[in-house]
Amino acid sequence: MNETALLAALREAVGAAQVLQGEDCAPFELDWRKRFAGKALAVVRPGTTDEVAAVVRACAAHGASLVPQGGNTGLVGGGVPDGNGRQVLLSLQRLNRIRAIDAANLTLTAEAGCILQTVQQAAEQHDLLFALSLAAEGSCSIGGNLATNAGGTQVLRYGNARELCLGLEVVTAWGEVWHGLSGLRKDNSGYDLRDLFIGSEGTLGIITAATLKLHPQPRGQLTALATCPSLAATVELLTLARKAAGASLTGFEAMNQFALDLVRRHMPALPQPLPAAPWTVLLELSSSESETHAAALLESLLGEAMEQGLADDASLAQTLSQAHALWQLRESVPLAQSQEGLNIKHDISLPISAIPAFCAATEAALEAAVPAVRLVNFGHLGDGNLHFNVQAPQGQDPAAFLREREAEINKLVFDAVQAHGGSISAEHGIGQLKRDELAARKDPVALALMRQIKKALDPQGLFNPDRVL
Ligand code: FAD
Repeated sequence: MNETALLAALREAVGAAQVLQGEDCAPFELDWRKRFAGKALAVVRPGTTDEVAAVVRACAAHGASLVPQGGNTGLVGGGVPDGNGRQVLLSLQRLNRIRAIDAANLTLTAEAGCILQTVQQAAEQHDLLFALSLAAEGSCSIGGNLATNAGGTQVLRYGNARELCLGLEVVTAWGEVWHGLSGLRKDNSGYDLRDLFIGSEGTLGIITAATLKLHPQPRGQLTALATCPSLAATVELLTLARKAAGASLTGFEAMNQFALDLVRRHMPALPQPLPAAPWTVLLELSSSESETHAAALLESLLGEAMEQGLADDASLAQTLSQAHALWQLRESVPLAQSQEGLNIKHDISLPISAIPAFCAATEAALEAAVPAVRLVNFGHLGDGNLHFNVQAPQGQDPAAFLREREAEINKLVFDAVQAHGGSISAEHGIGQLKRDELAARKDPVALALMRQIKKALDPQGLFNPDRVL
């Protein structure tokens, strides 16, 4: 590869000021968890779709691979370059325009670098809801959300990023633009290319814009915490909540006692309104009628849960700021655990009915393998998605624990996930972190088909090589 000629072509494509090198690249080269550090030949910051296409053509002509990056909040090392200093990091941050809102069609078209929160706010200005919500929403981008098919806290009602996207604009490996920004809810005109690019983690094409699905804003929304005596009771409470509230149930997050202990230890100023319990659930109900309607539903649901012994105690947010504080409690768990030190993370999904048996069997096996091991178990229980994170026993060096025990603990956990019919990646994706696990565990026919798709759409291996596959 002639690096000087490539750099000249990149400068011509986007302007010299938007081709960063050396120290200026540092913030783009390290992932959010600080687990994957790379070295880019350059960071390129195009401002339009045509500039993205020109960058791809320049890289293709010079045989350089590209790593797309949005907000760099991904948790599997998919958006940072490798260490060889020859990859071009393509930052989508400057593609940040909301192109259109069609209130009657309930759609919004945004460029890939738009921050998720900006899109939520743009929808809100039209009294509409963009229903993707996650703790990184102040910094993650729509392109990254779609490339990872992000989940978050409202999947049980509105679906993953995939279900919130109607159309895409994508730059292909040939530097062409696929204009697929359709706002159609029905379009059976051939293979679904949109769904191929969503969740492909930057390995098949560069998403430059998306037409997103909006919903009416709920008229009332209420949040509550409830404590449950066991995980089995927590799952039964979910079944009850679904029956009682139907589509009004928009959030059902669960946290084990240790997860909340860590929040208490590292964020003592955050109020925890309920006493410690084996499991604490955050419920959110939304009503298209009124807040009074949501409150009546929630109060009757919690009353019934306590009567049936599924919940011991509950606390209903009385104001918007109390509701925010309850969500903050849940969203502080990832930060609290990272302040406790590195741990061995598993973003897994299971059939909801299998969760209590999975947790009982896996916790017993972990305790046998590592006596006094600590488990930060929390997540989007309403979607069968657990963040099942294994923390070193008190007093042990977390970094050494991660280094020495990760392979053994991953095997134990992922074997159990597979035995219970689950997935080793619920919402964070594969990236670099789980590539070898995917190769070892995915159905071989599925893997072969995935490799064929990669070959067909990116024969030169330009986009994010060695990620996912
Ligand atoms: P990046 O990190 O920049 O990139 C992620 C991947 O997408 C990389 O492989 C990258 O190459 C590719 N990519 C990025 N942009 C494009 C593009 N335009 N075209 C093609 N490929 C592209 N995730 C969840 O699903 N649910 C959660 O609840 C959740 N909570 C989180 C909480 C915290 C505190 C943090 C830090 C992360 C969380 N995540 C969660 C993970 C992360 O926020 C999401 O995966 C997010 O969607 C990534 O968006 P990003 O813009 O930061 O992408």
